This record gives sequence, structure tokens and C-alpha cells, in this order.
Amino acid sequence: MGLIIDIPAIQANWKALADRAPEARAGAVVKADAYGLGAERVAPALYAAGARDFFVALASEGRVIRPHLPEDAQIFVLSGHMDGEDLTGLIPLLNSPEQFFRDRALRPRGPFGLQLDSGMNRLGLEPGEWAAIRSEALAGGPRLVMSHLACADEPEHEANGSQLAAFRAMTEGVDAPRSLAATGGILLGPDFHFDLVRPGVGLYGGLPFADARPVVTLSLPIIQTRDVKPGESVGYGYSWTAQRPSRVATVAAGYADGLARALARQGELKLWSGDRACPVIGRISMDLITVDVTDLPDVPAELAILNAHQGVDAVADLSGTIGYEILTSLGRRYKRTYL
Ligand SMILES: *Cc1c(COP(=O)(O)O)cnc(C)c1O
Repeated sequence: MGLIIDIPAIQANWKALADRAPEARAGAVVKADAYGLGAERVAPALYAAGARDFFVALASEGRVIRPHLPEDAQIFVLSGHMDGEDLTGLIPLLNSPEQFFRDRALRPRGPFGLQLDSGMNRLGLEPGEWAAIRSEALAGGPRLVMSHLACADEPEHEANGSQLAAFRAMTEGVDAPRSLAATGGILLGPDFHFDLVRPGVGLYGGLPFADARPVVTLSLPIIQTRDVKPGESVGYGYSWTAQRPSRVATVAAGYADGLARALARQGELKLWSGDRACPVIGRISMDLITVDVTDLPDVPAELAILNAHQGVDAVADLSGTIGYEILTSLGRRYKRTYL
């Protein structure tokens, strides 16, 4: 019942991705509350599996997991050193000359890393900025020099090769651990692995790691069922009308729980009773979803929306998004169980 998060599956996915890059250390990206699954539970489990390098987006996220990880775990902050941020126990990945000089002025002996822009134009020092501070920055002994791939989930994309070449050129002769690959980059092969890989979504069962073990199942309790006559309609806008005598179940979740209203637009979203699919009918409301359970022999206590038949990427496809967004949108109202 509720959201079940399979911690051993996360650990197995981490090991499987680490094995794809045997010559590199494998870190773990636990930003956005470990992609919505609960960083306070997930980060220590990944430490137990062997990860020592963790990545968060914000210092505040780092402060949440710091007490749950032993001293030898490094927590890197991808947004770097933002003005006024407390970075005690954390390692900012400095993204600009401004961040570099701010950090060195305020924490002259504090550990830091550097993020370089190899072409994505999102975060990181541009080649010219890097050239200007490179010797001073390297003299400070960075814990990591990293960059990020924009198109790693498209193996044929020419940006992969050009970003790799740019990163190599910028880090030639650098005597610090280097990192370029997230989940997609790990799958691109050893040229992309360098010293440390940074898997995120693959740990949580999402594409592009097609061999991942599924991590989440989500079952929604049925609040009420009713019989509906032909010609009667269901839900906001009367957008679904029964064509036959029907049995309708109303389950306790909606768009406030991360199940986007757009998921029901095409009428292809299913809820599951074991192996039997039941179509979602009508509109998804804030807290409620209506389902046609006419063809079930018995009405169960709950219906699954994420299961072995319908994973996060399958649901994502229905609303034109990606598994990352489904995971990070999973609501806080579900009863959560960690295996
Ligand atoms: C989110 C992120 C990752 C992890 O990416 P996945 O595609 O989820 O594996 C790695 N590095 C950086 C810089 C990121 O922003």
C-alpha cells in the first residue's frame, strides 16, 4: 500500500553502474531528496553499498544528509558557493570566477571542487574563465574537476564527442580527480568515465539505464466504488460518459500528488489490479482519480499506478515528460514504506 521504495534495488543499481565503469570511482547523485525518494534514507544505503562521493544541488540539501553520513563521505554541492550559504561539512563545486573568489576569500582552507563548462552552457567555468584562474585554482588542491554532458542519453549525438574533447583539453595535465559522466555518460563507455562517475536517475530505476531494477511501486487506496448507468458521466467537465453499465472506483491521489492532470488526457493511463489493467476515466482531480473497474471480478482495496507493468518512464511518456520528472514529483502524502 502506498509508495514502496526498494532500497536493495537502489543498491543493486549502484553496483551495476559502478561495474560499468570499473576503472573509476562511483559516486551517487542524491539531489532533490534523492529524486523524490528520500535522501535521508537513500544516501546512507548508498554509503553502505560503497559510495563515498555524494552530489546535491543545494547546500541546504547537503545539510540534510550530512548527519546521516560518516565523516569520510564527501558531499559535493553542484550550485557551488552561493552568496551567504553555510557550507560547513560540504564541498562546493565552484562554477564561476565570482564563486571561486568568494569561496577562497571566505573559506581559504575549505575543500572545494570546480565545475567546467564543456559546451552545455548551463553551469561551470567557460574555457577563458578557466584559463584565467586555472593555476591559482589548481594550487588550492581541488577535490574534483568536473563537467556535465548535455546529450548523453543520445549516444549518437555529436555533442558527446565534442564535450569529451573540450573537457580533455581543459583538464590536460590537471592533477585532481576528474569527472564527466552521469548515468548516460557511464553507458557511453570508458572514454567518458575518467576518475569518478556520477550516476543519478539510473540508481532510481529510470532511463537511460534500461537494465535498472525497478525501484518504486505505488498503489492507491480505493475510497469508494459505485455503479454508473449508461449515459451517466464521471468527474469534472463530465468528460467521460458510460457506454455500458459500469463500476467506477475512486482512488486517493491526484495532481497534488504528482500525478499530472495531463496523464489522463489521451485516456491511456491505466491502474492495475495485479496483472489486470483498468483504464483511468474522466479527469484527474487534485486528490482523486476515477477508474473503470467493471471488468475486474472483485474490487480490490487498492490499485497500482507504478508497478512491473507500468514504470516511471511509461507513465512519463503519457504526459510527454521523462522518468526524472515523475520521480521528483512523487507526492509527500503517500504512505511511504522502505524495503
Ligand atoms: C543531475 C546530475 C547528475 C546525475 O544525472 P543522471 O542523468 O540523473 O544520472 C550528474 N551530474 C550533474 C552535474 C547533474 O546535474
